[in-house]
Amino acid sequence: MNPSIAQRLRGLNPSQQQAVRAIDGPCLVLAGAGSGKTSVITTKIAYLVKECGMSARKIAAVTFTNKAAREMKERVGSMLKGREGHGLTVSTFHTLGLNIIRGELKALGYKPGFSLFDPEDAKALLRDLMDKDAQVDADQINAVQSMISNWKNDLVLPGEALSHAADDDAHYAARVYEAYVRHLRAYNAVDFDDLILLPVVLLRDDPEALARWRRKIHYMLVDEYQDTNVSQYLLVKLLMGERETFTVVGDDDQSIYAWRGARPENLVTLGEDFSRLKVVKLEQNYRSTGTILRAANALIAHNPHVYDKTLWSQMGDGAPIRVVVNRHEEAEAERVASEILTRRIKERAEWRDFAVLYRGNFQARLLELKLQHYQIPYKMSGGTSFFSRGEVKDAMAYLRLLINPGDDNAFLRIVNVPRREIGPSTLEKLANYATDREVSLFAACHEMGLEQTLPERAVERLARFTRFIDATRRRMDEGDAIAAIRQMMTEMDYEAWLYQNASAPTVAERRMANVWTLIDQLEKSLDRSPEDDDAESTDATATQTDSVEDAISRLVLRDILEQQAEEDDSDRVQLLTMHASKGLEFPHVYLMGLEEDLLPHRNAVENGTVEEERRLAYVGITRARRTLTLTLARQRKTYGELSDCTPSRFLDELPAEDLDWEGRPDKEDPEKKQARGQSAIAGLRSLLG
Ligand code: ATP
Ligand code: MG
Repeated sequence: MNPSIAQRLRGLNPSQQQAVRAIDGPCLVLAGAGSGKTSVITTKIAYLVKECGMSARKIAAVTFTNKAAREMKERVGSMLKGREGHGLTVSTFHTLGLNIIRGELKALGYKPGFSLFDPEDAKALLRDLMDKDAQVDADQINAVQSMISNWKNDLVLPGEALSHAADDDAHYAARVYEAYVRHLRAYNAVDFDDLILLPVVLLRDDPEALARWRRKIHYMLVDEYQDTNVSQYLLVKLLMGERETFTVVGDDDQSIYAWRGARPENLVTLGEDFSRLKVVKLEQNYRSTGTILRAANALIAHNPHVYDKTLWSQMGDGAPIRVVVNRHEEAEAERVASEILTRRIKERAEWRDFAVLYRGNFQARLLELKLQHYQIPYKMSGGTSFFSRGEVKDAMAYLRLLINPGDDNAFLRIVNVPRREIGPSTLEKLANYATDREVSLFAACHEMGLEQTLPERAVERLARFTRFIDATRRRMDEGDAIAAIRQMMTEMDYEAWLYQNASAPTVAERRMANVWTLIDQLEKSLDRSPEDDDAESTDATATQTDSVEDAISRLVLRDILEQQAEEDDSDRVQLLTMHASKGLEFPHVYLMGLEEDLLPHRNAVENGTVEEERRLAYVGITRARRTLTLTLARQRKTYGELSDCTPSRFLDELPAEDLDWEGRPDKEDPEKKQARGQSAIAGLRSLLG
């Protein structure tokens, strides 16, 4: 056996080794947090290449977030050096889907340079379609959007949605769904869910395409399998169906994406669909102290279970779990920040050893201010991401329009940015004209007939804009595409426009810097040769060398795929939502806002989905290796009003003897409580006379 692999295997426990060695048939590793599931995947990739002689380019490993994919890439990178790992695909499900679409444009009936609509673009299209029938409000659009997304995740196509519609609402949504799909095609665009749906439908219906991809990918590994939806499961099943060569790992207790169509039942389905499935269970946790693990086990024991799991650790008990009660949310943020500052020195820790997790991004705002106050470097995942900034969205819209002039949303976003005196009434008439002629807005600007609809001046302004875009496009085709894009930004003087619209010159400066950063990133991703080991799309999935179109569509995908942390691994405190923390681990974890209505979230309590919130808390707790601190506030501002908070029910579900409370709200003696209640009633009675 290859000596480095033999050594790696020896470092694993017998069950893990068994999972790595199971290569002839389908394999499922079902185990709790920190038991080495991801470690099995990374070692198995090295085992397949080094020991079984499989070409890395025939292996695809998929997971859910960019951050997790990056981590996995790093772990594999340390085992496979140089050419050994050449061509390996380690990516998110959606990137794999995007690569399949790029390779199958013709079979799918799409043209090169297709657009990827982000949820905002999709919403804008839905609004257009729905407004035709009647005035609709944001809630109605959101409801239809999520129904469409659910259908797509469940692999329900418009015809089927229509025939199964149980009531008027579903019938209406299905009709919008049908029009929406038609329009996306007309725009040569796909939405986020299509990245999985289109490949699945293609592979299901087109035997040649299926054979092509089965030749490309011989082995698949899926991390966080409990969060796959129906379409994602089918993608794996179609690709691996014949050979049955795949390994999936998951933990039903960490299923936290039901709201996005995740089906933890896929764990069960797997056993039904693949009779040869080998199931391996792992029980030893290598991540956390005994105390942290006991808390996690006790909490999750309150949920019903499909599979019973036991999880133990040899790490010793470690420190108790601290529960810190604060006066209000600001005190909570202050406490977390100042504590990290002192603990870093006292415990000789690094900033990156600390992670602060919370339920919703809004909770991070106060914390950010406090961290800035103490000059603590931090990195925030998700939230106000680079890509959600207005100027970056503008620049992205220019890029999108350059590669796909049919992208009406991109057109509308920037036709008057910077100002070109093209007003709403011009745009409305243009839109009507374009709809009648069934052409895109950009194409309509070129048509002679427009002069009958619009005043000459307006026609000229529109023409000037399209000439400008066309000229850039020509320059891109002729030579240095990136230089052409930079020239476009400079020529239209976007910078001056930013200065006019910013509250302060420094703000405009920063915004312009963001635009250049975006273009630099685009350039970098173009430069990335296929030889590059780190390349996300590799031989197993890439079908052509990178063009600007591909690079731009990859940028758009990155934008949508949660705007996770930048690639640097600098020394910073990590701020992230519990959802984004999946699969990661940190020596010291703070979990904020352990209050009813926050964790569990109010909506979950109202909708009866507290179990999913409990799993979320389980995910949060099990990120901690050595210490865990839970914080809460007695009062918090909701909708501008200060209101009293109740400690989370999850605190009561943790082993009391392992908790070290600070500022515990008095546990009132029930008799005293009753007496107080009665005297209040008596008081009221006397008041009322
Ligand atoms: P999660 O459910 O949170 O995704 P996981 O099951 O994927 O967790 P890993 O992240 O693979 O767990 O492993 C948790 C930690 O345990 C890592 O630091 C890993 O290096 C370590 N580990 C895994 N297996 C072993 C082992 N056999 N011996 C020592 N350490 C191990
Ligand atoms: Mg993992």
